[in-house]
Amino acid sequence: MNSKNNNDIEKNSLLPGGGMGRGLALFPGSFDPFTKGHADLVERALQLFDQVVVAIGFNEHKPGWIPVQERVDALKALYANEPRVMVESYSCLTIDFAKQCGANAILRGIRSVTDYEYEMQLADVNKQLSGIETLLLFANPQYSSLSSSMVRELVHFGKDIQSFLPIGLHYSDKK
Ligand code: ADP
Repeated sequence: MNSKNNNDIEKNSLLPGGGMGRGLALFPGSFDPFTKGHADLVERALQLFDQVVVAIGFNEHKPGWIPVQERVDALKALYANEPRVMVESYSCLTIDFAKQCGANAILRGIRSVTDYEYEMQLADVNKQLSGIETLLLFANPQYSSLSSSMVRELVHFGKDIQSFLPIGLHYSDKK
């Protein structure tokens, strides 16, 4: 292959060092709470995209466990020194929020076959309705059993959960 072709490949590469803007990924979820598994996906997505928007989806009628504003504030503090990560909340359809953000792709994670079936349906419907592709990353095996619901359960039984949360992420003293 001559050097011109090599340069073309590098320019269009999704890999670090590619000369082109690599766009913005929207990472939607409940993040109730945000765990080391979620943080691992954000870190890996930053190798593929210029920017990642962590988007906390909420339903006004289902407040969830940690108040949405607290989820936003805690994540903004966690990523305060990482200008490529933005944190937002939204209550509309994910694809509509993805369009508002100008997202090039939706980012989601897969830990298991159960996740796979659900994520495939979601990605398929979102693609049909909006044309936006979903990028699915496999969970880091270290975190493949980690879920927000498990963390909530542990808190319910009075266990300390800090080791499941990224270093530097803190919620109110109840958690
Ligand atoms: P949702 O309520 O939309 O499923 P979650 O906050 O539970 O939101 O998860 C957001 C995304 O992160 C989902 O795609 C989920 O599969 C993925 N995810 C959750 N936990 C992990 C983990 N430990 N490792 C990798 N991906 C994860």
